[in-house]
Amino acid sequence: MKHEHIVKAVLPGSIAEELEIEPGDCLLSMNGNEVEDVFDYHFYANDEELTVLIRKPCGEEWELEIEKGYEEDLGIEFEQGLMDEYRSCCNKCMFCFIDQMPEGMRDTLYFKDDDARLSFLQGNYVTLTNMSDHDIERIVRYHLEPINISFQTTNPKLRCRMLHNRFAGEALKKVDRLYEGGIRMNGQIVLCKGVNDGEELERSIRDLSRYRPYLESVSVVPVGLTKYREGLYPLEPFTKEDALEVLDVIHRWQDKFYRESRMHFIHAGDEWYTLAEEELPDKERYDGYLQLENGVGMLRLLSDEFEEAFGELVGDDKVRQISVATGKLAYPFIKGFADRLSQKYTGTKIYVYRIENKFFGEWITVSGLITGQDLIGQLKDRPLGDKLLLPCNMFRSGEEVFLDDITLSELAKALQVRADIVKSSGRDFIEAILDS
Ligand code: SF4
Repeated sequence: MKHEHIVKAVLPGSIAEELEIEPGDCLLSMNGNEVEDVFDYHFYANDEELTVLIRKPCGEEWELEIEKGYEEDLGIEFEQGLMDEYRSCCNKCMFCFIDQMPEGMRDTLYFKDDDARLSFLQGNYVTLTNMSDHDIERIVRYHLEPINISFQTTNPKLRCRMLHNRFAGEALKKVDRLYEGGIRMNGQIVLCKGVNDGEELERSIRDLSRYRPYLESVSVVPVGLTKYREGLYPLEPFTKEDALEVLDVIHRWQDKFYRESRMHFIHAGDEWYTLAEEELPDKERYDGYLQLENGVGMLRLLSDEFEEAFGELVGDDKVRQISVATGKLAYPFIKGFADRLSQKYTGTKIYVYRIENKFFGEWITVSGLITGQDLIGQLKDRPLGDKLLLPCNMFRSGEEVFLDDITLSELAKALQVRADIVKSSGRDFIEAILDS
């Protein structure tokens, strides 16, 4: 068979364990169908009655008849997470962050994925350039949603130029099929100065709005530029004036869309507001925070969560000394929270440090791209109090390792301080400061 999948683990108490499926077994088919990848697996595994063909390491084949609840998990983990090779991208985007990384970082950081299966499993944005019609038909047939799409522009020629892929314009036609199939989508436009802004941005917003309501939201985020751009397309950072113009365009369209459908549809990434030195919009403008993971509304949500939790506090005069490190983008907000907490908790001194991203360059302002070496370099010999708080997005998910492979304990040792990771909500921030 073309597609065979080796079992890595079987969850205790699961259906698979009861059926004596074991690590090392090989899944050959489900309901008589080959299982191409994780899409097929989940689709077939949802059934209440299914037949699974397994080959044991000795070569014996077992046909197992299973009766279970609809969508009840079989409890099998496979050696390959996607049950297939990861698909790398076939573009060479002028704004690609991976092309702007210095040499010598861990290998996995250089992997350019553009795999639709990761869009469903992890929320990644895909360009649709390496998806076949067969992939699109499976998405429609299995009704997999939402899919996150990186548009950049709806001008086919410009898209080919930006993605450096002559099929990138054509790939936009796949959105029509997803729309016809009623698949929910979210979109993103990475804005590059002088390339897809101005009239091109207006055109993209106008064209994309025709895919409403299945296309639920489109975010506009500024291109991330590091200091490692030698030999790459010459892109310039946006200025405050540019940011004001972009916000103007977005707000104008938001008002129109809201009047029409009670959804704002187009959203500005948080960076635009800080760059323009504008107030963040109210939470209602974010339509339920559809693109939070993409840095759209994170600061509004954080502020609202802080305010809510702060309002419940009575305060005390216990002596505490704590430090917090954050990126340039979130600094004014974190500093404001710290000042207000110190007024209510009169014995509490909070040092908030704005870490400049020397590793990637000054234009990178998010805390998620701050490295251990920048923290150590900029916090050495600074007062850090009893503990140093660091936002969880500085770390690889579920691990205590920075992007440059320095670990949390190495940092704590270098700075001679207890270092704690704070979860992302405003309430978590308060609790970490007050140690409650
Ligand atoms: S799709 Fe473009 S931005 Fe994404 S990894 Fe590929 S080249 Fe980089």
